[in-house]
Amino acid sequence: MQFCLFSLLCFWKKKDKLAKQEREEIVKAVNNIRVKSLLFTGGEPSLYISDINQILAKLKNPKKIKVKITTNGGFARTQESAKRILCSFLRLNGVQLSYDKYHRQFLPFQNIGILYRVCKELNLTFSVIMAIQSPMDMVLVKQLRQIGKFQVKIINTLPMGSAKKNDTYYSYLGFNDGVLSGYCPRKNKISYWCGQGFSICCSLLTEGDDWRKYAHPTLEEHINSSFYKLLTKYNFRQLFKKLKVSTKGLLPEHSSPCVLCKYLFDKYYDKNVKC
Ligand code: SF4
Repeated sequence: MQFCLFSLLCFWKKKDKLAKQEREEIVKAVNNIRVKSLLFTGGEPSLYISDINQILAKLKNPKKIKVKITTNGGFARTQESAKRILCSFLRLNGVQLSYDKYHRQFLPFQNIGILYRVCKELNLTFSVIMAIQSPMDMVLVKQLRQIGKFQVKIINTLPMGSAKKNDTYYSYLGFNDGVLSGYCPRKNKISYWCGQGFSICCSLLTEGDDWRKYAHPTLEEHINSSFYKLLTKYNFRQLFKKLKVSTKGLLPEHSSPCVLCKYLFDKYYDKNVKC
């Protein structure tokens, strides 16, 4: 396979343990393409260190790949526990802490400072990814600034998982048609979902009951799927045209690329047209 992808993300979701065959598929994918970075994310990667190490141990060019985790930081109760966990990974270049008003209820604030300092000591990059429900939530960024200088990436909470159940996702004031000129935000990334397979999508399409339309057991199958080709070639305006779905009546919530994308593919499949 000769594909140049920027990142491979590994998620644990439908199943909580990667099967041996899944680990082998991930290793094969990483070794056959020019992966620049590998991100292990939630669930909570610190609970799956042995699975992650089995993957890392088989990489052909480990030094060329930046390895990161996205964590809830629960293990950083003390300097010792943070160091012990981070040093248990065969390779690690950086840590991304998932922190927002939801995580705040469970994560003691001091854990963040401990994690930040231990990352510095171990020469690992440290950043925070924060999902917001409204711009008001940005007040948390100010609190984080008391700890130190690091990147805080803000994302709007999507109507999925518990945010959907509890109605706590980001609400837009009006429809921003600029979203139609954009592409899937994961265009240069591939995700592996435990129990599902490879997909460009790490969001609303793969979390739904009809995920089989959007994920494939091997990377090759996924890259050759019409779904992957459409998402990597066309922007949303072109996709609506291509799939013969009308853009009339789009709502404020469709300002989010992923909500727009879900609407598009749901409408498309409703019409029973084969992709
Ligand atoms: S929902 Fe669509 S736009 Fe969002 S990550 Fe998935 S494929 Fe990309």
